[in-house]
Amino acid sequence: MKIFETKQTLQNFIDENRSKNAIIGFVPTMGALHEGHLSLIEKSKEQCAITVCSIFINPTQFNDPKDFEKYPKTIKEDLEKLELAGCEAVFLPSVEEMYPEGMLQLPHYPLGRLEELWEGAHRPGHFQGVCVVVHRLLEAVRPDLLFMGAKDYQQVAVIRHLLDHYTFEPNITLIACETIRETSGLAMSSRNVRLSSEQRIQALAIYQGFGKIQKALQEKTIRSTEILEQEFVQQLLDAGFESVDYIAFADPKSLEPITDLSQTFVVLVAAFIGGVRLIDNQLFPHELFKRV
Ligand code: AMP
Repeated sequence: MKIFETKQTLQNFIDENRSKNAIIGFVPTMGALHEGHLSLIEKSKEQCAITVCSIFINPTQFNDPKDFEKYPKTIKEDLEKLELAGCEAVFLPSVEEMYPEGMLQLPHYPLGRLEELWEGAHRPGHFQGVCVVVHRLLEAVRPDLLFMGAKDYQQVAVIRHLLDHYTFEPNITLIACETIRETSGLAMSSRNVRLSSEQRIQALAIYQGFGKIQKALQEKTIRSTEILEQEFVQQLLDAGFESVDYIAFADPKSLEPITDLSQTFVVLVAAFIGGVRLIDNQLFPHELFKRV
């Protein structure tokens, strides 16, 4: 596995492989790798001759400085996991390499409603930071396929928007991969290491909330999205969450709020437990609720 710290050395490697017509897959991450990340590497390896993973904790996407400071860093273990997973190349840029002009004057990405809804509203500037860094990473790697997790549902929509509105050479196909969960149902996340074992159990209330919605859909006992939302918030607070940013019933493409539950919809959740902000989501209707 090759490790690159500069765009130039990475690009030389990419050019060399492109000249051999290799399909390049890219998995951007912020490290503290878990099975969710590794599932993306696995998907990329199924379809690409070369898989590049980047590890970069991007300062500009953190709207909370404390969250940035506390973000877990496990680079040695990460590299071991990537090597074992058969990743061909890792990009480990410094902040200076990604932001040579500093971080004060950055380009603005017009994201429309995506920046006003849900994560956009609760994390001001977050998606601007995500767009700046992903745009730069994509220009450095120039992949054919980009693998991202549906765990960050709105982020996938934002990056689709970026790919639709900017030109990339070659064209990039975004592949959204399913959320990997612990056997308990808890969505894997780098931030989970900051939860106590008790909080990990309490955090299952999110997955259980999805299960209750599925059951209510099957049993046709749903009165309104408003009531479902209130009940979901209450279940999280009862379980031990400190606060809930939102429980959103939304259109799977536009992410606009919906009230008609006869169509496919997504439920997006963001809530705090033990000072850690967890996000999760589930598409409905969904047949795979074996554990609830
Ligand atoms: P992060 O390191 O949190 O920025 O995540 C890097 C990539 O891994 C993003 O595309 C995430 O959506 C994806 N990811 C994170 N957690 C999971 C998970 N539990 N299942 C699948 N993909 C995930």
